[in-house]
Parts: sequence; structure tokens; C-alpha cells
Amino acid sequence: MMKANSVRTIILITLLIFPGFKAFNRSVPEKDGAKAKNIILFIGDGMGVAQVYSGMTVSNLPFTLEKFPYTGFSKTYSADSYVTDSGAGGTAIACGIKTNNGMIGVAPDGSSVKSIMEIAHQNGLATGVVSTSAITHATPASFVAHNSGRGNIEDIAKDFTKGSIDLFIGGGANHFRLRKDSVDLTTDLKEQGFAVVYTLDDLKKTDSKKIAGLLAKEHMEKASEGRAGALEIMTRKAIETLSKNKNGFVLMVEASMIDWGAHEQNADYVTSEMVDLDRAVSVAMEYASVNSNTLVVVTADHETGGMTLQEGSLKEHKVTVKFSGAEHTGVMVPIFSSGPGAEKFSGIHENTFFLDTFLQLLNLKK
Ligand code: MG
Ligand code: ZN
Repeated sequence: MMKANSVRTIILITLLIFPGFKAFNRSVPEKDGAKAKNIILFIGDGMGVAQVYSGMTVSNLPFTLEKFPYTGFSKTYSADSYVTDSGAGGTAIACGIKTNNGMIGVAPDGSSVKSIMEIAHQNGLATGVVSTSAITHATPASFVAHNSGRGNIEDIAKDFTKGSIDLFIGGGANHFRLRKDSVDLTTDLKEQGFAVVYTLDDLKKTDSKKIAGLLAKEHMEKASEGRAGALEIMTRKAIETLSKNKNGFVLMVEASMIDWGAHEQNADYVTSEMVDLDRAVSVAMEYASVNSNTLVVVTADHETGGMTLQEGSLKEHKVTVKFSGAEHTGVMVPIFSSGPGAEKFSGIHENTFFLDTFLQLLNLKK
């Protein structure tokens, strides 16, 4: 074993010989003490690099993700599998722990682990989740609920009434109203001061500080079948509502169906959902451009389909896609970041690193 002193001497000599060589530092300089007031996190479910680039290729509008100053990668494996599901993947991002596939907001032993939303709420920030799937589905559920089984949807819906979340907009109305236990959770939500709305028009109209937007009985429709642009409106409303809180806010927006398109090995489904996500990201970037204390991060829980691009034309906005399978894969997924502390997301990270980094930037303790 070398003594610490001799190790230090060797490092010093190395630095003297190679002045450009920084021993233990990342090559991207960190702006020390960067603090964020607000965090807007986007999760493209199933969004690998090919999904992103296929969207970039077919998009007729400039692609917002291309403008992010920092990019990185996240390793998505779960506690019990090289290939994660969205429950363990969402839990890693929301709660900072690797758990087993199928689990929501709990450790492998089933014990609850606090999410970024619960910690932010305890510290007086406003919190929200937005999704194109049922709001009780694995990804948004990981930020709000605690359950060893992602399929226990009625219990998961109940967790949305427990106070840690000020706004949720997505599908899933049936899990709040048409329940086996005959309890109508929207009654409880209204008593808590939530505006409960069922259409985009009513969502736009409400000026409540607490919103339950249940815009479909189960999942919303596909972007290609009439939903296109809705995520943009939902994101805008969420930001407008949560930003009324003077202490700041944390918002998670999920594009659920990039994953579903890849499961179906349907290239048009993937690219249309990818472009739709990018439009919603542009809303956040627009807000962050005038509220520079806002960190915007876009990432994925895992890749789906082993998607690759065999041919294409950026001029003609065309791409030929091939899928290697119909399931999730273990490849790293991209991270895009912009705003205070954005440089911390560059490099290769475990998917559990988001929570601590968010808390550090928000100056919050667990
Ligand atoms: Mg999802
Ligand atoms: Zn999936």
C-alpha cells in the first residue's frame, strides 16, 4: 500500500508534467454554489438516443433538445435486473434508490422511500406531475405513491390524495372515481381545495392553485390520434400554476407513449410522441429563459425496442427505423440539462443520482 503522502506527491508530479491533466475532476468546469429555485424534469418513457434522433429528423420545427447546453448519460439497471421497468426506473429518479422491477417508491424490502416531491412539499415548494398516460401509471406514480406492486392502481390513486402533490394532470379518472371500494377520491380532493377538471378546456379555465386534471378515463389518446399539442398545454398550465408558489416548485412531465410506440415497433408512433415531447420541453425552456433560476432536465427511465436508424434524410424529414425487439433494453439513456447546476448532469451517472443533485441545487435536506 502506498502512503497518502506519496500518492499526493505522484499526483502533484503528474500535474506538473501534464499541466492540462486534471487528476480527479470532470472535464466540464462546475459553477460552484449554483442554486435552483425551480426544477422541471421531463421523462421520455423508453427514450433512447435513437428515439431522440428520429424525432429530431422528422420534426418540421427546430428541435428544442438540440439547444440544451449539457448532455450526459444515465445507467438504468434496477436492483434486480440489468433491464429495468418503468416502476424501478421512475423510483430511481424520484427517490434516489435502486429497487426491484415492478415496485413504486419503495426499497426492495418494501419500505417506503421519500420522493423528490415529498421532500419538496415538506420544504414548502409546490409540486406537480403531468403525464399522457393514467396519472397512476408507473412513471408518475413513482413520484407520488409507495407500493410494492405497480398494478395496485387503486391504492396508488389514493396516495395522490395524501397531500404531497399540488397538481396532477393526465389520464386515469376511473381509478379515482370508478373504484372497487366505491370511494370517490375526487370528493376528498375537492375538500382539500383541488379543482377537479376533466377536459383541456376546463383545465385552461381554472385558476386554482391545486389541480387534479383527469383528462381521460384511462390513458390519453395518441398524439397522432388527436392528442398532439395537449402535453404542451398541460405543461404550460402546470408551470403557470406551480410558479405561484414563492418558494419555488418541482414539476415532472412524462411523455409516456414513446415507450408504447417502441413496444409496438411502430416508428411513426415513436416519432410523433417524441416530437410532441419536444414541444412540451419548449414551453419549459421558454419559462426558464425569463426565470433563470429554473433548471430543466430531460431524461428517460430506460430505452425500449433496441431502436436504431438505418437510413434517413434530414432534408426530407424521413427516417427508416429498425427495432431489435419489443421489450425494454439495458442501454444507457441520454440526459439533457439547462439552467443553474446543469453542468452537474454531464458525464455518466447512475439513475439514482438525480435526487441528491436536485436536493443540492434546491438547497433542501432529505
Ligand atoms: Mg411511463
Ligand atoms: Zn415499457
